[in-house]
Amino acid sequence: MRLSEFELIRKYFNTANLAFEKNEVLLGIGDDAALLNLTKEQELAISTDVLVESVHFPAGAEPAKIASRALAVNLSDLAAMGAKPLCFTLGLVLADANESWINSFSRGLAKTARQFNIALVGGDVSKGPTTIAIQVQGLTRPGKALRRDGARLGDQVYVTGDLGDGAIALASLGIPTHLGDTFLFNENQPSSACSQYLEKAYYEPEPRIEFARLCAEFINSAIDVSDGLLGDLGHICKSSGMGARINIEDIPFSDSARCCVTSENLLRAALYGGDDYELCVTVAEDKREQFLLKARESRTKITCIGEIVEGNTISFLNTAGAEIPLEQSAYEHF
Ligand code: ADP
Ligand code: MG
Repeated sequence: MRLSEFELIRKYFNTANLAFEKNEVLLGIGDDAALLNLTKEQELAISTDVLVESVHFPAGAEPAKIASRALAVNLSDLAAMGAKPLCFTLGLVLADANESWINSFSRGLAKTARQFNIALVGGDVSKGPTTIAIQVQGLTRPGKALRRDGARLGDQVYVTGDLGDGAIALASLGIPTHLGDTFLFNENQPSSACSQYLEKAYYEPEPRIEFARLCAEFINSAIDVSDGLLGDLGHICKSSGMGARINIEDIPFSDSARCCVTSENLLRAALYGGDDYELCVTVAEDKREQFLLKARESRTKITCIGEIVEGNTISFLNTAGAEIPLEQSAYEHF
């Protein structure tokens, strides 16, 4: 029987002989980043993400864009922990050493590194199918990191930005999505204004570092939405021993996404699509006002889409309050 991505990790990597306890490891496999005990004042958050040509970006894509996206998706995991970016390493596998390609890649990487004040401190270069493996490190204050397991009964569920753009953009860039053949555009192809917007959303996801750091003390749990809302909110629910109720009418979509696909496919892109790199956070009722104030200060669009409830399932309700049936599970690589 084929193993799912998460079964594979659990069975072969999150094992007693690999992921064993160390005094310094405060949080191991299972969250957006691991947490290590550094000093009395600081913890270290570590996360890694791999991008493969033709899977995560089209062959022939502009190297500067690939580079800044590769760093941004890693930074998104630091944002999900409420961590402040510190440094990163770069594992780069290239089919050949084309200098103009590498020059553009380096410029794109530098732009994002400077923007988020994260310094390159090492890496490795090798020959093979084009692949980018980045590991990021960030700092948090002891006990203050955001985690997936902190959702409490009655918390409101918020997301930053818009959902669904990532999967719709991937399809418009010509990369097959796992949403299948029925995931079609209204007019075969989106208009050029919509494609431009989606392409920017895809290559320049905004890691929500500032939002997370400003709002952290009012947030109970957090995750970055990289594999679709169903799967990622599912991780929060599972780790927290809770369920969730989401009002589908409240899920935020960009105008470009709305004009490209049917409302049914919009929802599929948000729930099962992935590649959005927005944050999903849960906030207790009595912290709501302070949370909203800080979110505004960070100039980040946020939307309340539902609440945390008892149980272990996520239900999606339409405007009439009826539960809509789910058609497939979250994105997995296998
Ligand atoms: P994310 O979407 O936040 O990058 P993933 O869904 O990829 O996280 O991974 C889930 C958890 O499993 C994370 O804590 C990640 O560090 C861990 N993980 C993923 N792949 C491996 C691996 N090959 N070995 C050990 N841990 C892994
Ligand atoms: Mg993540």
